[in-house]
Amino acid sequence: MFERLKQKKKDFDNNAIMVFHCQRNDISNLLQTVPYNLIFKTTHWCWNNCAHCCESSGTNMPKTFIPESVINGYIDEAVKDKNFTREVVFTGGEITSAYRFAGRNYVRGIIIHAIKAGCGIDIKTNAGFVNSPLAKTFYYDIEDIVNNHFDDEICDIKKLVPLQVSLSLDRFHRDAMERDFKFIEYFAHTRMPGVAFTINVSSVYQDKSMFPELMHRLVRSGINVSEMFLVSPRGGNAEQVYDLNGNVVLRHHCGTLFNGGRAKDIEYAKKVHVPQFNFMDSDGSSLIAFDSFGNVTLGENSGKKISVPWRKDGTDQPLPLQTIRDNLVAATKSAEQEFLKEHKKMDAYFRWTTRYVK
Ligand code: SF4
Repeated sequence: MFERLKQKKKDFDNNAIMVFHCQRNDISNLLQTVPYNLIFKTTHWCWNNCAHCCESSGTNMPKTFIPESVINGYIDEAVKDKNFTREVVFTGGEITSAYRFAGRNYVRGIIIHAIKAGCGIDIKTNAGFVNSPLAKTFYYDIEDIVNNHFDDEICDIKKLVPLQVSLSLDRFHRDAMERDFKFIEYFAHTRMPGVAFTINVSSVYQDKSMFPELMHRLVRSGINVSEMFLVSPRGGNAEQVYDLNGNVVLRHHCGTLFNGGRAKDIEYAKKVHVPQFNFMDSDGSSLIAFDSFGNVTLGENSGKKISVPWRKDGTDQPLPLQTIRDNLVAATKSAEQEFLKEHKKMDAYFRWTTRYVK
């Protein structure tokens, strides 16, 4: 009973703060000035059908991809904009299914293009290919890109190149422990003279104990593991990471499972308060996510979204990035008005109590 009352009070406080912000269009104004990362959900197809998938991706989704030319075009436009962080995420669905459905060079093409444009890249995969012939092709591409496509000048200590491959480690991704181990083991034993890239392992908080288990396995297999601390050029605390045989850097990240897509059926998946305004990363950047259905959405996770199309009406032609950014701001203003309508009494009350405040 007491817990329910506490939650009600918290919801009331959160809504009151949001009403103030929406009355002044703080959120849409902020969106115009904060830096942004680009995310490309290249496809909705995936060979897994995980129970917690926020994107509802799976084998029943179309085998269609955002065209390579569209992705490259948006990156080219973004790098001319001072608000772009030059951080790009390539994800899905399962991005490596592109080798089957979008052509041999789709994945390497978009990665190399982003590198040439001076961007840092994160490729998210479920590593479901580790026991298939596709592994050889994907490994070859990663090695070739890390060895041959980075300009030496952008490398710092240990020449750690700004390329990250992100894997998942939780109870939902089938055989995640086995798949992650095989992927990491391969690169821990792959000598790349003078350069290293990062492998990131993400877990939901409920499954964070799987990471030490993975580390034990890596150590038991004979990999030399040592601790390192990375300092971000943007400041903040040094991050603990692991050097594996001097060939690859491993990091671990724990996150909350939000109740979007199929995750809405998971008991502990968290509901986001005012989800349509939850589009900022922890470092204060906004996330602008393009998908293969033709939408651009603020933020990545659950709930009511703010979305606009990236195609011109009734065509396959991409809209200019600035038009999309303007449309997202307009859609955010509408969402602010909608929020105020949903909280009419609070809106009227605060307008009345603050009527003389300038
Ligand atoms: S969570 Fe990842 S691996 Fe699982 S179905 Fe979704 S996209 Fe595929």
